[in-house]
Amino acid sequence: MHRQFIHSFIFTSFSLCAAMSHAAEPHVHGIAKMLVAIDGNNLEVELVSPLDNLVGFERAPRNDRERKAVQKLMKQLNEPQSLIVPISAAKCTHNKTEIDAPILQSTSKTEHVHGKHDEKHAEMTAAFSFRCADPVALKSIEVRLFDVFPNLQRVQAEVAAPGGQAASSLGRAHRTLSW
Ligand SMILES: [Zn+2]
Repeated sequence: MHRQFIHSFIFTSFSLCAAMSHAAEPHVHGIAKMLVAIDGNNLEVELVSPLDNLVGFERAPRNDRERKAVQKLMKQLNEPQSLIVPISAAKCTHNKTEIDAPILQSTSKTEHVHGKHDEKHAEMTAAFSFRCADPVALKSIEVRLFDVFPNLQRVQAEVAAPGGQAASSLGRAHRTLSW
């Protein structure tokens, strides 16, 4: 299970237009996208967010404070138990997180070499993999990202589950994604 799967799954499950806009749309600060796919015992949650929502800047870290912010973010994403909480009845456990945030890993030198980076904006993709002992009970996920990332205002979520599809706009006051 990896990101490729979730992309193809969503691609076939939602309209072509939605899949295309996911890739091409310029991002808006304060908003993140979440794609949820369930296949057998596997739950995949992909979060695509402007880096500004998560660390407050969208370039390689330039000082110790920023480097620490990036380290903290990586730790939070790799231990997402307080960020993304599948309903307990489904007995899901987190397997791994695949993080794709090239700008955070680049040094100022490589940034210069790869001058094609958008100078103004950068995103991060985090793909969280869970394994659920009772996937039939998997009917909702509580999204607690708003507690951890104050810049994040809204999560536009899409779900592709065996029982159906759902799309929901989550916020501080409405944080449970159900289908
Ligand atoms: Zn931006």
